[in-house]
Amino acid sequence: MPPATASPSPAHPSRVRVIHSGGGGKPGPVVYWMLRDQRLADNWALLHAAGLAAASSAPLAVAFALFPKPFLLSARRRQLGFLLRGLRRLAAHAAARRLPFFLLTGGPQEIPALVRRLGASTLVADFSPLRPVREALDAVVGELRRDAPGVAVHQVDAHNVVPVWAASGKVEYSAKTFRSKVSKVMDEYLVEFPQLPAVAPWDREQPEEVDWDALIDRVCSSEAENVPEIDWCEPGEEAAMEALLGSKDGFLMKRIKSYETDRNDPTKPRALSGLSPYLHFGNISAQRCALEAKKRRHLSPKSVDAFLEELVVRRELADNFCYYQPQYDSMSGAWDWARKTLMDHAADKREHIYTREQLENAKTHDLLWNASQLEMVHHGKMHGFMRMYWAKKILEWTSGPEEALSIAIYLNDKYEIDGRDPSGYVGCMWSICGLHDQGWKERPVFGKIRYMNYAGCKRKFDVDAYISYVKRL
Ligand code: FAD
Repeated sequence: MPPATASPSPAHPSRVRVIHSGGGGKPGPVVYWMLRDQRLADNWALLHAAGLAAASSAPLAVAFALFPKPFLLSARRRQLGFLLRGLRRLAAHAAARRLPFFLLTGGPQEIPALVRRLGASTLVADFSPLRPVREALDAVVGELRRDAPGVAVHQVDAHNVVPVWAASGKVEYSAKTFRSKVSKVMDEYLVEFPQLPAVAPWDREQPEEVDWDALIDRVCSSEAENVPEIDWCEPGEEAAMEALLGSKDGFLMKRIKSYETDRNDPTKPRALSGLSPYLHFGNISAQRCALEAKKRRHLSPKSVDAFLEELVVRRELADNFCYYQPQYDSMSGAWDWARKTLMDHAADKREHIYTREQLENAKTHDLLWNASQLEMVHHGKMHGFMRMYWAKKILEWTSGPEEALSIAIYLNDKYEIDGRDPSGYVGCMWSICGLHDQGWKERPVFGKIRYMNYAGCKRKFDVDAYISYVKRL
């Protein structure tokens, strides 16, 4: 039997945070402010917003605000093109469902005015742990509290299988400590998504027509230093589902079988899911990927378990770190032992020192490292194993750990299609600052941070084959 006071929201109650309870305002539409979860399917924030709208017989609208510099627009043509082309498809799907989609090109500061113009009762935002998004949300909430206190503001973690604040209340030390917490509650959250509740027809201001081609041209060409778009990965929800389940090449259809054995071999990139661009832009829900992977566990239990470990534990551990540690992208966010050992060795003599420009142009003595840098620059996605080697060598070849971290993050965010993501900041922090790792045998430059070298790579995979593969890209 349903509880007597059933919530109108189909989302798990602890997935939702009431940031401002509002109340006292007139009933009105619900506006979903889409941030990181750029999809209509399998989206708990949209489901929550639709549930609230349905319960008060109100209509629902979706709004997306392009962030100004330095956050979103420090993205290059590569990431902005993917984002906007994905949104263009999303807008078409929304229109087909008669769901108004408001694209605000003047930034998040336009959200409060839209909410007021539409006479909204509630603003629902999805969740990102990154500083610029949190600051934008705080500013919007502040303005609404002041100028439209009746409007409620809710936040929904639609990105993680286990909502970040429910998984743990603090920065987790390692995957081990986080895994045990997440596994305990996983079944509660890893459930099928319901249908979107039916809402009242839209009867307010219509969204302005967007000239997407002109917008893409304008936004992408406004960046002086551009990085070209990639053509091997179509943006949008359908392409994301195709990458997961497509009968021709979907990761979970056949390729998953070799994930366990081959995922650390950069000469076999197809052993990986290739889902990170879609997960980063929220074109697909990690929960959908996990549900579908679990259904296919019989194909290869070890591979599915390894995939779920990366997709859920490691990815959500990155959100945990960025959420609870505001200095997630600087050495001050590292643990004391790591900072100390890095500083103890900061003045050690380096055999090679390269500038950021030399690194960016792949001008080092190490052909393997150069290949990984070029894979990222030209293909837009470096193999996961090479990302660790790549970042650790930046620590070895620059003047100090702080500089190494900032160069690694700069390059990662500039060229990776999945860059500017919690997993990117945590990946760089893991490689350079020992985050979520343990101390290892002390050695020059690295101190107790885990070391990786060319000889180790040579033992693991065919280095020359990888270098040739990158040359052909
Ligand atoms: P798969 O192996 O198929 O993994 C499936 C999904 O699991 C990934 O899409 C990702 O969401 C998650 N995942 C896999 N490995 C990790 C990991 N180590 N940490 C957290 N989540 C993981 N990931 C990004 O999404 N964006 C980045 O900018 C980014 N930068 C990185 C930088 C460095 C220095 C390192 C060491 C790692 C970085 N990662 C980043 C994590 C990881 O390398 C990528 O997520 C992965 O290579 C993406 O390819 P895939 O989807 O084919 O991976």
